[in-house]
Amino acid sequence: MNRQNPILEVKHLKKYFQIGPKKVVKAVDDVSFTIYEGETLGIVGESGCGKTTCGRTCVGVYDKTDGQVLYKGKDIHKLNAAGRKELTKHVQMIFQDPYSSLDPRLKVHDIVAEGMRIHKLTMSKEQERQAVQDLLRQVGLNPEHASRYVHEFSGGQRQRIGIARALAVNPEFLLCDEPISALDVSVQAQVVNLLVELQKERGLTSIFIAHDLSMVKYISDRVGVMYLGNMVELAETEELYSNPLHPYTEALLSAIPIPNPDIEETRDRIQLDGEAPSPVNVKEGCRFCTRCRFAEDICKSKTPQLQVVRENHLVACHLYEQKMDENQEKKDA
Ligand code: SF4
Repeated sequence: MNRQNPILEVKHLKKYFQIGPKKVVKAVDDVSFTIYEGETLGIVGESGCGKTTCGRTCVGVYDKTDGQVLYKGKDIHKLNAAGRKELTKHVQMIFQDPYSSLDPRLKVHDIVAEGMRIHKLTMSKEQERQAVQDLLRQVGLNPEHASRYVHEFSGGQRQRIGIARALAVNPEFLLCDEPISALDVSVQAQVVNLLVELQKERGLTSIFIAHDLSMVKYISDRVGVMYLGNMVELAETEELYSNPLHPYTEALLSAIPIPNPDIEETRDRIQLDGEAPSPVNVKEGCRFCTRCRFAEDICKSKTPQLQVVRENHLVACHLYEQKMDENQEKKDA
């Protein structure tokens, strides 16, 4: 990863949805981060926290409400039609649901080749056939699968077809939007391993969106935690897992099962009470305060800002210093 070379710069991004005369859902509310060349940023959070909307707004699938997204210095929300078409050659998506994201009327060959045709990347039918077969091999499928329809495949195989389709235009950047959530647990690790290998081989930069922290650990260089439209913590993966500073991150981490029955039975779990509050017309103050066991008066009246608290570690919590001391005491014990 080259930290000198920013690929995607997200600055104070907002995406609001008007759902009534006086009702606004602030799905993404003032989110900022930078992704560097060759880096994978994991974005995690519960359903409805805004992670998918954030990812999609970052690659121009949704218009923004405010803020700026620069891809290699260019504002992606100001591109004309030709610029947008060019962007899809460099930026591709892998979708959550491999059942609905692939056209059931097309053979696998045509699904994978579609992007190459749009961007005129192959010269002849034979070149196209070879390119599709190479891609199918790279994602762990048999080249003969090219002549079949998607209904003939399992969920894991369909997601591999989706990955081959995304890679067909040789992109630089991948938005992986919950690519394993719809898959059986038994094949989730296979798909994550495949993505890790492909990212290394091709030097891809990516955003990997997921709703839990367990798989994200293996694929991400840094992880951002979202809650109700805000980024509440952002740190390098090892740092986040070993030294979480936001109470919400801590609760998410404590929910990850440990594959050792003795430890699993005795360890403390942080139970989050209730659902996340409604994202409609959110008020001033920390959005997590209705579920936070540390909440104090200041949390209800003042919104904590995401700030750098140590190298490459940002958190939005008024009481982060207390948490830092607590983590240190645990390490010293
Ligand atoms: Fe909890 Fe307050 Fe920190 Fe919000 S600002 S996470 S309510 S301690």
